Amino acid sequence: MKITGVKAIVLRLPDVTTAADGTQDTCLIRIDTDAGITGWGEVDSAPTVVRAAIEAPMSNGITRGIGSALEDQDPLAIDACMRRIYDHTQYYTRYGAGAHAVAGVNVALWDLAGKAYGQPVYRLFGADQHHVRAYASVLFQNTPEDTYALAASLADRGFSAMKFGWGPMGQSEASDVAHVREARRGAGEDVDLMIEAGQPWNWRTALQRTRQFAEYRPFWLEEPLHPEDVAGYAKLTAASETPIAGAESESRLIEFEELIVVGGLDWVQADPGRCGISTMVEVGRLAARHQRGFVNHTFKTGVSIAASLHVLVAVPNTQVLEYAMTESPLRHELTYENFELEAGLVAPSDAPGLGFTINEEAIERYAVA
Ligand SMILES: [Mg+2]
Repeated sequence: MKITGVKAIVLRLPDVTTAADGTQDTCLIRIDTDAGITGWGEVDSAPTVVRAAIEAPMSNGITRGIGSALEDQDPLAIDACMRRIYDHTQYYTRYGAGAHAVAGVNVALWDLAGKAYGQPVYRLFGADQHHVRAYASVLFQNTPEDTYALAASLADRGFSAMKFGWGPMGQSEASDVAHVREARRGAGEDVDLMIEAGQPWNWRTALQRTRQFAEYRPFWLEEPLHPEDVAGYAKLTAASETPIAGAESESRLIEFEELIVVGGLDWVQADPGRCGISTMVEVGRLAARHQRGFVNHTFKTGVSIAASLHVLVAVPNTQVLEYAMTESPLRHELTYENFELEAGLVAPSDAPGLGFTINEEAIERYAVA
């Protein structure tokens, strides 16, 4: 089997706001083969920059677009494909949107491989099919009262875990504490409550917040610091009694490893649309070896939810799945499968590949040139 084409498809809602909501646009990766099998992936980055990395023409023998590097390659030789991409694109794919583009290609290659072998992707990693507990992932509301109301409504819907993030967090000490207090009050005592800060603090302020939030018993405090502040994470995790989560921005094993080993993260978050399935599984196994928790980061469409589910059941140290509660039509219309929860649980599909079907009409509706 040979790869005949790699496409990046940019989708965007008509109105995009500054809210920290990643479901307002996306970039899909489509890989076609001469066997008629197609693999799909998704990237969580700046979609048009990703598209440029896929479509770039050859500049010279060691620099070309990711699509051109994969032309005529065997898609089932996934590691060989990844090495070839790296050899031909490393000037622009070691970090950032170029690395994210490679991640989306890796997701598509695994989807394609599962379809070619007639197996769900988790089977290719030797895993069984089982359920994962979903946590409802939402943004802090503009006022503590509205944060309370949202937490109460999610608890009424039966969620046993929920996360509030971004929005007003980091504006002031009083407001930070009020939002966390009201999130706990709305969620009730028995719900696992994750708090996401959105990178607003230095390690001293973050440590102070963990003490101020302690009576509301956060399951974790996520991204209190800038992702490059590894030294800050090391000091914070050494002193904090609240578990610290992070690493969703990373693409390469080397950065995850630094945040785990040096930064001391208690919960390691990986996004398939930024690091790819191959690396995400490696990170999950590395986290397990260091006795850390592992969880997906996913705030995109059904493509990334599917990819996350297959990885989470394939690594040993997972307890929860990030499940974005957004009304965006890209989240709800792009795949025919919606990954509805049953009693708060969800499992990967046992269909070949990643187990979703792309809605081509939704692509036509939201595609931008
Ligand atoms: Mg986050």
